[in-house]
Amino acid sequence: MIKRRFILNFPPDSGDKPLSYHLVRDYDIRINILKAEVFPGKRGSLLLEMQGTAANIEAGISYLTRHEVVCEPLEKRIRFQHEKCINCGNCTAVCFAGALTIGPPDWELQFDKSLCVVCELCVTACPLKLFEINFQ
Ligand code: SF4
Ligand code: SF4
Repeated sequence: MIKRRFILNFPPDSGDKPLSYHLVRDYDIRINILKAEVFPGKRGSLLLEMQGTAANIEAGISYLTRHEVVCEPLEKRIRFQHEKCINCGNCTAVCFAGALTIGPPDWELQFDKSLCVVCELCVTACPLKLFEINFQ
């Protein structure tokens, strides 16, 4: 079993389709919605954590894609210019998810994108504007 996070963008007419129900029932995937912005009649976005076998998750993503849901791994929606970081630590103070950490022995910023919950607080916390996160 593995865990992976994806950002899903739904078409406007997908509100009445039980897509997450099918992920659970037909593909044996455990799902956890970490962030949602859904507006009836318009596109919606979800940050979804899926837990299951790699093959089932891949099949579940194919199922969603067939229903016009755009699915991308979370990591692909995050841009971070690590080479310009001055290790000031500002972003770690706002990252409650623990994706951004800094500490001994080298006091260099570590970024574990797999823990990100797309709160976007680091985008404004970084004085050098090194983060770009695309949820929509
Ligand atoms: S968006 Fe930034 S602050 Fe928020 S969880 Fe992700 S890395 Fe941390
Ligand atoms: S706030 Fe920006 S410059 Fe400071 S540690 Fe975080 S990414 Fe680096």
